[in-house]
Amino acid sequence: MSRLDTKFGKKLKKYGATEFNRCYNCGTCTAVCSLTNSEDSFPRSMVRLSAAGDQNGIESSLKPWLCYYCGECSTSCPQTANPGELMMSLRRWLTGRYDWTGLSGLFYRSSLVTIIAMVLVFAGVIGYAAYESFDMERIMHTAHYFEMFAIMGVFAVILLPNIVRMWYLTVIKPGYKLPVKVYASSMSELFIHMFTQKRALGCDDNQARWFAHLILVIGYLTLLFTTVFLDWFSTESMFVVVLGYVVSAIVFAVTFVFVLGRIKQKQEIAKHSRPSDWFFIIWLLLMGITAFAVRLFIDLDLLAGNLWLFLFHFTILAQWALIIVPFGKWTHFLYRSFAMYFDKLQKSK
Ligand code: SF4
Ligand code: SF4
Repeated sequence: MSRLDTKFGKKLKKYGATEFNRCYNCGTCTAVCSLTNSEDSFPRSMVRLSAAGDQNGIESSLKPWLCYYCGECSTSCPQTANPGELMMSLRRWLTGRYDWTGLSGLFYRSSLVTIIAMVLVFAGVIGYAAYESFDMERIMHTAHYFEMFAIMGVFAVILLPNIVRMWYLTVIKPGYKLPVKVYASSMSELFIHMFTQKRALGCDDNQARWFAHLILVIGYLTLLFTTVFLDWFSTESMFVVVLGYVVSAIVFAVTFVFVLGRIKQKQEIAKHSRPSDWFFIIWLLLMGITAFAVRLFIDLDLLAGNLWLFLFHFTILAQWALIIVPFGKWTHFLYRSFAMYFDKLQKSK
């Protein structure tokens, strides 16, 4: 039986949705959405579930993840109910529902809590550096292993259980009983969407935005691989050094364009930035620029006298790995890809 929560609208405000109760159910938003179809009809259906406070209906739905936020529905809504931002807010709310620790929801609802967590991580990095008597070599060594273990630890302890919860809520609980061979044969959907996000191409406005995201995903993953597995800050391989410069510059340049877009607020998606959006994009930008600067200082033989630069980079890295990746907007990248996989499973029944 569905659990209706009369206070759901109030809760959702903290995730960014403020106007959806103005909806008078005309259906224009669904009619203009280029990603909707008879099998997956949205965003009106999600506006109705939200207005009714049907939390079970929302948490068992993959539709919020099928929207790529072109904003077409919001600009066409005669009631300015902003269905595009509602879909975004539902993605934030769902992220909180999947997360077993409860921290995602807490960070989405409170910038103050996020800032406190960021400060604690900063204090941890400085405390560790002091413990090592600010010995550059030892700190760099630890930072390298920290990256490796943070990635594995966050995935195993936080993200994997959360994906299992998402699977339970959207596939198992609604009663989809599927043979293992269907899970195996649908698996390609997961990787195709994870690395290409090709569904975004279906949005009328989206080709340039899709391409920029694709470049960013490739740049980010290559930077991760270069620093963690090819040991960019210590290597003497010219190929790896140049590769690191190129990908860190790409990450910085693309995120800089996204930051400008959010400041100018010309596109619908940029008009409603929440603190979580800013944290995500600014930390990505800082990761690119500080990684580039650290390697440049190494090559110019300047890093030894500028430990502050490495500590700044290490802090950004630690905050990214311990807060934004497991609990922030980074998770959308993962949940979107799994949503496409689970959607395929649902349709295989
Ligand atoms: S276009 Fe606006 S008013 Fe019409 S169904 Fe969509 S959200 Fe509601
Ligand atoms: S923002 Fe775009 S993709 Fe998302 S529901 Fe609205 S029209 Fe569809």
